[in-house]
Parts: sequence; C-alpha cells; structure tokens
Amino acid sequence: VQEKLDLLKQNKYNSVNSLLDTLALNLASKVDAKIANNEEIGLLEGIPFGIKDVYMLQGTYTTASSKLLKNYKSAYTASAIQKLLDAGAIPIVKENCDSFGHGSSSENTIFGAVKNAINPELVAGGSSGGSAVNVAKEYTVFSIGGDTGGSIRQPAGYNHIYGLKPTYGRISRYGLMAYASSTDCVGPLAKSVEDIRILLNVMSGKDPKDQTSITSTEISEKAILNNNIKTIGYFKNFIESEAIDPKIKADFLTSIEKIKATGIKVKALDFFKSDILVSTYYTLAMAETASNLSRLDGTNYGNRIEAENLIETYAVTRSENFSEETKRRIVGGNQVLSQGFSDEIYLKGLALRDQISENFKKDFEEVDIILSPVTPSTPPKIGESLKDPHAMYLSDAYTVGFSLGQLPTLTVPQGTATGLQITAAKNNDELVLKFANFLK
Ligand code: GLN
Repeated sequence: VQEKLDLLKQNKYNSVNSLLDTLALNLASKVDAKIANNEEIGLLEGIPFGIKDVYMLQGTYTTASSKLLKNYKSAYTASAIQKLLDAGAIPIVKENCDSFGHGSSSENTIFGAVKNAINPELVAGGSSGGSAVNVAKEYTVFSIGGDTGGSIRQPAGYNHIYGLKPTYGRISRYGLMAYASSTDCVGPLAKSVEDIRILLNVMSGKDPKDQTSITSTEISEKAILNNNIKTIGYFKNFIESEAIDPKIKADFLTSIEKIKATGIKVKALDFFKSDILVSTYYTLAMAETASNLSRLDGTNYGNRIEAENLIETYAVTRSENFSEETKRRIVGGNQVLSQGFSDEIYLKGLALRDQISENFKKDFEEVDIILSPVTPSTPPKIGESLKDPHAMYLSDAYTVGFSLGQLPTLTVPQGTATGLQITAAKNNDELVLKFANFLK
C-alpha cells in the first residue's frame, strides 16, 4: 500500500484527485496484524485499489472533478465500495475523471487533463481516465470506474487494459453520483479477465438502496473456462463507416478472420447508423443529467456563491461552478425536455431507444456475442478535442448503443489499437467473460 501511495504521489499523469493515505495505511496495518497472527486472509484483503472521484466513501472528498464540489466530503459510502471494503480491499486514491462523467477524454476537470499511460502526449480517454491510467501504470491493482456511455470501456481501450460495463443494475448504483440514471453502470478496470470476474462477483447483487438493482448468480472460475460460443456477429456499418481509422478497421477484420479460423461462425449484422446512436444517447443523457444536476444549486452541497436573492444565488453558483461542457449538457437537456421540444426530441429519443433494444434482442437470437472495435478513432492529442465537442460526441459511436441497450460489455486490450469490445445479451455477463478468456 505504501509503495503504491508513493507512486501515486509522484505520478505525472494527473490521475489523482486525492490520496487516501491515512485511511489506507490504517486498513493496511490491520491486514498486517492478521498476517502476523497467522489468520486467514481473503482474496481481496490488503489489495490497493482506486475509485473514480464520483463515488461516495464516507469522510473522503468526492469532487466529481468539479469546482462546485471541490471541498465536498462524502457523508456515506457507496454500496459497491462498501462491498469491496467488506472483502478487505484497500482504497488508496480518488481518481481524476471528466467532471460528472461528462466527456470522453478526461480533460473536463479542474485537476488538469489526465495523460495517456502509453503516450502522455495523448488523452487518457474518459470519463474514467484516471482510473484507467492508474491500472495501466500499476499504481492501483484495480480501479472502480463508472460507465454511462463508454466511460469505462473507452479509457480501458486507450490505455490497453480490461474494463467491464456489466448489465445495467447488476451492481448497485447507490452512492455513485448520478449522471444519466438509465444507463449509469458501476464497473471494474483491471489487468486480467480473472480480476474482472472476481470484482464483478464481489460487487454484484440486489441492493434495497437501489430499486433498479437486480439479483444475479455468481460466475465461477470454471464457468468461463471452456468456450462453447458458436456464433458471433459484428455490425457491418460500424466497420464500413467512413469515420473509422483504417488501421482499426484492418486490425478488426484480422481478428474476425482469426476467430473464423477456430470454427466459430461470424455473421455481419445490420444496425442503426452511428450518428443515430450518438444523437439518441446524447438526447437522453443530457435530459437525465439536467434533471440529476438540478439539485446542485449551492443550497445543500458545494461552493455557494451568495447573490442578491435566492434565484440569483442559484444562477451565479451554477454558472460560476459548472464547466463549459457540463453547462452545455444542462442547457441541451433542459431544452429537449421543455414544452414544444419534448415531443419532437425527447420522446423520439425514447422511442428510438426502444427500437435499438428490440434490434439487440433480435440479434441475440442469431448470435451469442457481438464484437466491435471500442472506438472508431485513436486517442487525440491533449487539447485537440476540446475545440470540437461534436467530434468528441461522435467518437463515442461504438460504445453508446450498448449502453442504451443496458447490455454487458467488456473492453479487452487486443485486436485493435484501442481494443475489442465484447457484448452479450442482457444478464449474460458470464458469456462476455467466457469469450474474453477464449480470445486471451
Ligand atoms: N463520453 C460519454 C459522455 O460524455 C460517456 C461518458 C460516460 O460514460 N460517463 O456522455
């Protein structure tokens, strides 16, 4: 634990928002005492891990990388984090990310842009950029990220590690600061399929504090060993799109050929165009975030800026303390929800989402797994994507659809420069891990 804390303290990647040294060393000394006493030690006991700075951990800062919550300390602990604590894992760091999860590069943060673990001139990806870098550099053994539209999978791809977005609801969202509640997922970033499996098991389960959480069965080590997957599919239009980087395309097609050579059948499937996926996702995500962030007006939480009257106080507090990107989303979200627009835009978004989910259901009658690149493009240089928010939204083309479908999906660090994404039908997280194990 001490060693990892030192590495984090000296790190030049801007992956740290706050170190949890006192808490971590205290917990570590308890594990040391157990070892000295020859007591049995659990699998996760004493393992140092990182937490994206959007999760509550009682007594620690939870800033969401925002100016508004810069000095906010959590009053309670998130359910997923509590389960890890109960298993003896040791939280050592709150990790840098895009503010409130708003972004794909971890540049929308008051703590400085996170640098990519492989090439520090490039972005780390986002929004869980600090978490991915800490795992890639082995500053943490694993990290807990949050994925609303790709925020675990994309930075995992950009930093060549594993990152899982489980089936929606499999891990309780209680204590995760809400971005878009209908797609927000808790998930692990780690260096092996086995670590991902263990962490998923520990954090899963129905939680009375999150009504959308679901019961699930444990995935055993054995269950993911032998591949019985016979048919996989990929979306033709993802691969034929003009936006795809030629190298990512070529690498992906090579992976497909290799899979075919093992005897697995591969089907090319039709799917929604990626601009439809992106616009549906951003319509709903912005609407939900406008609603979720409405509570952040300086009354109960955060840096309040006093003005002449209450309404002015709300306005000044929010306009001074939210980032440009967050404000863009709040304004966009309130617009699509407002009278005159909601029928045309928001309700249309909901209807499209239903169609997308239906399409997935049909696809999974034909194939066991859908394989895709994680991103159409490689990580940009730091500073570049801030100039063009629309281009940044489009870079989420391959991750957001699976979020809308609430499907389990995993980034594996191979196949293309930014990884492969393995997706299965809802609640079939086991199959995702099995296929990842097979590809290893
Ligand atoms: N890049 C996407 C967005 O900005 C996804 C972010 C996330 O999953 N938190 O909405």
